Amino acid sequence: MNFTEISGKRQLAFMQDFDYIREAGTEAEQRAAERIAEEIRSFGLTPETEEFTIDTYEIEEAGFAVTGPYQKEYTVSGYAGCGSTPEEGVEAPFLYAENGDDISLSYAAGKIVMVNAPVRAEMYKKLEQAGAVGFLSISGTPIDSGEDLKPVSCTLRKVDQPTIQGVCIHCTDAAEIVEEGASRARLTVRQKKVARTSRNVRVRIEGTDRAEEILTLTAHFDSVPAGPGAYDNMAGGAIIMELCRYFSAHRPRRTLEFIWFGAEEKGLKGSLAYVEAHREELKRHRFNMNVDLAGQLVGGNVMGVTGDASICQMLSWLAHEAGMGVSFRNNIWGSDSNTFAWNGIPAMTLNRDGFGMHTRHDTLALISPWSLERSARLLGYVAEHLSEAEVFPFVQKISEEMMKDLDEYFKE
Ligand SMILES: [Zn+2]
Repeated sequence: MNFTEISGKRQLAFMQDFDYIREAGTEAEQRAAERIAEEIRSFGLTPETEEFTIDTYEIEEAGFAVTGPYQKEYTVSGYAGCGSTPEEGVEAPFLYAENGDDISLSYAAGKIVMVNAPVRAEMYKKLEQAGAVGFLSISGTPIDSGEDLKPVSCTLRKVDQPTIQGVCIHCTDAAEIVEEGASRARLTVRQKKVARTSRNVRVRIEGTDRAEEILTLTAHFDSVPAGPGAYDNMAGGAIIMELCRYFSAHRPRRTLEFIWFGAEEKGLKGSLAYVEAHREELKRHRFNMNVDLAGQLVGGNVMGVTGDASICQMLSWLAHEAGMGVSFRNNIWGSDSNTFAWNGIPAMTLNRDGFGMHTRHDTLALISPWSLERSARLLGYVAEHLSEAEVFPFVQKISEEMMKDLDEYFKE
């Protein structure tokens, strides 16, 4: 690979056109998809946009009030995806159960229960089993001020039939509630399910003499509603765009497909829609190279490989050849690479640690052309070697153990 053709500055310039919140299913996401397609056309390829439907939740009302021994309303955000309380809300005794350990939760029956971290499926089930009638989770830090005192928006996933509702509260209010000895509270959440359209943008560079075999380079371009997702993950989108441009001028032996996924932040919905729409062709796929979280200067690159351990060793060799630092994890990974692995295709996510994911601080201000350039060179080096190999070197199998972890991950 000719590293001098890879430009971090060009990637940053491209990212400048995405400096806004791109929540899946919104017009902003659509606008971003159109800009991606336009960029692909600018170097002579023809992109395709593939739409799919996602279920989203509109929170109509979220309230939390302490009703005894004092009375006060607090600002909260409602948990999407956990249904609605009766219109008048749920009133019950209040309990602070810290991290939701078994001892604390043994007092939870019939109560509205506050726990520290965002409530996910596992904690949700514990709360249900403990007999809680509603929950609060705590967000933010004690040094927040201004806008940051707003509780974050939360979504409950992977729970089929939610029976209790919840809200999120800022830790400053949470501390007051406990210190003031709140013993009763009322919680209200009203929401409705709305179907919306999200989309993936894809483009294929047909291989020469190994065209039957497909390698994918992927990144999600949607963001969470809290911030414009520069690090998570328009930087990933810029890296694969740079490589798409490179390979459009240096035709590979194997077919390279570049995909910008929508709705990753809604539970990998874009990649799931992709494998559904292209199921027939999946047997031709050899490896997925996904990028999620990239572009900040202070950090280090990790390749999270979901596939045989020998893949880590081969990728490590390529990274040694390229001379760029990266460490390896051989595990499932909470991004679109999981979708490929779950469908039997070895996969990896290139990931860089950084600051401010899923917050309003995740902006272009922290994106570094130096970092974008290095990551694109590293990934491009790997992609080029894999696309040129005489025989594709990776074991085409996901171990039973990983498959079990993936089943667990995707279980709804
Ligand atoms: Zn992401």
